[in-house]
Amino acid sequence: MISAYVDSGLGDEALSLFRSMKEDGLEPDSVALMSTLSAAASLSALKKGKEVHGFLIKQGFPVEESVASSLVDMYARCGALENSFKVFNLVKDKDPVLWTCMIHASGMHGCGKEAIELFDRMEMENTQPDHVTFLALLYACSHSGMIDEGKKYLQIMKENYNLEPWPEHYACVVDLLGRANRLKEAYQFVKSMPVEPNAVVWCALLGACHVHSNEELGNIAAGKLLELEPENPGNYVLVSNVFASAGKWDDVELVRERMKERGLRKIPACSWIEMRDKVHTFMARDKNHPQSYLIYEKLAEIIEILKKEGGYTAQTKYVLHNVDEDEKTKMLYGHSERLAIAYALLESPKGAPIRVTKNLRVCGDCHVFIKLVSKFFDREIIVRDASRFHHFCQGSCSCGDFW
Ligand code: ZN
Ligand code: ZN
Repeated sequence: MISAYVDSGLGDEALSLFRSMKEDGLEPDSVALMSTLSAAASLSALKKGKEVHGFLIKQGFPVEESVASSLVDMYARCGALENSFKVFNLVKDKDPVLWTCMIHASGMHGCGKEAIELFDRMEMENTQPDHVTFLALLYACSHSGMIDEGKKYLQIMKENYNLEPWPEHYACVVDLLGRANRLKEAYQFVKSMPVEPNAVVWCALLGACHVHSNEELGNIAAGKLLELEPENPGNYVLVSNVFASAGKWDDVELVRERMKERGLRKIPACSWIEMRDKVHTFMARDKNHPQSYLIYEKLAEIIEILKKEGGYTAQTKYVLHNVDEDEKTKMLYGHSERLAIAYALLESPKGAPIRVTKNLRVCGDCHVFIKLVSKFFDREIIVRDASRFHHFCQGSCSCGDFW
């Protein structure tokens, strides 16, 4: 039941079921504990995750094999990569899954160099990497902008290990080239793939076209994407965002119509934060939190300070709706991650790191906003969004403004 909750995206329910299990005096076994770890990971609920880790140790479960991998994954997804490394280093017999988890964890945090080091060590110990290992490695390269390395490992995968890459592997390389604004090369690469490019590949290309405002290739990728995966609402959102940022509101409307015809709905943006023993969830412009009034008051105060001290002005080009400038600014101010951060500044002790999780990507304006908050409020802010981790500290971000 716990794992069914986790699989359905109901991490909170999973954790409360785990609590009732203990209250009823039932001893959780390793399966229940691992499901609970993935619940904590899905919510980025570090305290809960640590609690389960502590429980595992108290009960004398050996931290090895799948338990070790689950812990590495949980800590990484809760934004505590150093704890992942601690667990990893303590395991004597490291299996391929554990190596892969650690490589993936490093990649998520933009630590491409560490991911490559891990892979080298893995090879030295004669542990056989598989498709998933290479996926983790290529993902790490792409999130650290390591183009040459990414291409090299794709080659190594084929030649040294005889593994035929999946479209997902190619997508990582497309992403890499795209991020570096080498869009033509990325498109050539897609066309030369020995397997049929799937939606993941086109999605990577489209994402890059969006970032670098390449309309021509963007149109091609958008068409392919909607043709290959017409039932995925995320694709329509991505395509309409591309049109919106180019100011082509008629096309945006057209995509929205097509989406409606199929009965698809956009996933609403949502951010959450663990405070004391509870996970607090915020939607955009949310007023449901019991302390809502104080949160908006705090948010207004933050914006005042950032404007005065940090020269912050809202970049309304990140609002993908056809509304006037004032409305755009209001929309930006109400983005869910800002509400979560304002709440954290209200409630958490001075100097404590702030960990926020968001279900979609952070927009460019919120990225600037959070950088400034980290500087002028002297807080480390760790944001996990749909694609990666951002570690904000003293006005800069670990992603190097590249995500
Ligand atoms: Zn935003
Ligand atoms: Zn960032």
